[in-house]
Amino acid sequence: GDRLICRVADIIKETMDCYGKCTYGRLTGDIFGICMPFETVDVISQMIEGIQSRIARFFVPYFLETSAGIYIIEDNDMELSAVFEKAYIAAKKCKGNYMMRNTFYTTEMGEEVMREQRIVDAMETALREQQFMVYFQPKNNLADDSMVGAEALVRWIHPVWGFVSPIEFIPLFEKNGFIRRLDEYVWDFVCSKLREWIDKGYKVVPVSVNVSRADIYQPFLVDYFCDLIEKYNIDPSMLHLEITESAYKENPEQIIKTVEELRQYGFIIEMDDFGSGYSSLNMLGKMSLDILKLDMQFIRNEMAKPVECSILIDIVNMAHRLHLGVVAEGVETEEQKERLKSVDCDYAQGYYYSRPVPVNEYEHMLIINGHTV
Ligand code: C2E
Ligand code: CA
Ligand code: CA
Repeated sequence: GDRLICRVADIIKETMDCYGKCTYGRLTGDIFGICMPFETVDVISQMIEGIQSRIARFFVPYFLETSAGIYIIEDNDMELSAVFEKAYIAAKKCKGNYMMRNTFYTTEMGEEVMREQRIVDAMETALREQQFMVYFQPKNNLADDSMVGAEALVRWIHPVWGFVSPIEFIPLFEKNGFIRRLDEYVWDFVCSKLREWIDKGYKVVPVSVNVSRADIYQPFLVDYFCDLIEKYNIDPSMLHLEITESAYKENPEQIIKTVEELRQYGFIIEMDDFGSGYSSLNMLGKMSLDILKLDMQFIRNEMAKPVECSILIDIVNMAHRLHLGVVAEGVETEEQKERLKSVDCDYAQGYYYSRPVPVNEYEHMLIINGHTV
């Protein structure tokens, strides 16, 4: 590693010596900075590509991937640290992208980083001040429309920004690890509510919670769920765990092991977003699972095809052959509902039945659903 860093430094020095007035150096770790007068985009690109190809040739047996970010200074009074920050933001855009080894900074990149930073700065307070709300969306039986379950979906109601979509913050929390804390909050909330509703004599139905990819790899996940149901004294079958399809392709052995253990304890496992793009068909045979949850977009695409070309019915049949229940998500219209019923799909979730609703509205649905006592 040290030898490589020294070699990179030499390569930069040798290259920059040909470019006249400029300054360069190692900033930290494996990060280098170069500051030079701007002539044309081509000059800069050629210079960087030259450095990159020389680094790549250094240790031929290894694939050395370098990424470079370029920022053209517009305001000469700008702090050097701010200049560097912008170049660094651009460089990070290239990381892990084989097709893009260097790129210019754009204002959109900066805005994205700032938006993310604002979310990160606000997340701890949000959790502490209970800005995260758990909404519930019913799942209904397609045969008789009865409510058979619900999915817990988190909502962030920020005092200034208002409603923040999970699409904006969940991927970020998965990246920085905060998802586990948020998910534990949601899981705990759901179990506490289940206990409360059982005590009140409501006819409770199981609630599904989302288990993020990042959660699955945490040790003690199984223990956590076991402790949770013990804490609230609820049956594990009341808690369904939705694991997204894409999680299965990353570390199949780990997932298979964790899921099997969870099932042994009686938790119900749903494979979320099935058909959303990752080919996990071969996983189906290997996995122990209870329910297949068909992705909203997959269903829409299949329904747009002529009936004889659609594989919807085959997927449902296959799931049934594997003794899995099938839930369709994102069902919005009567037509979609009827089509799903005609292919023997078991359950549906979507705006056709209800949008995700706050807890008090969901309690109302439970009351209408009937009391057990
Ligand atoms: P998902 O698990 O696939 O959740 C279903 C999404 O579809 C939800 O979006 C829901 O509001 C939306 N939806 C439900 N019915 C319909 C419909 O009929 N039409 C349309 N167009 N959309 C419908 P939402 O709540 O924005 O959540 C987005 C994603 O964020 C979720 O996708 C899930 O992956 C993640 N997420 C939400 N809450 C949590 C959570 O507590 N923990 C974790 N780890 N992820 C969560
Ligand atoms: Ca889900
Ligand atoms: Ca889904």
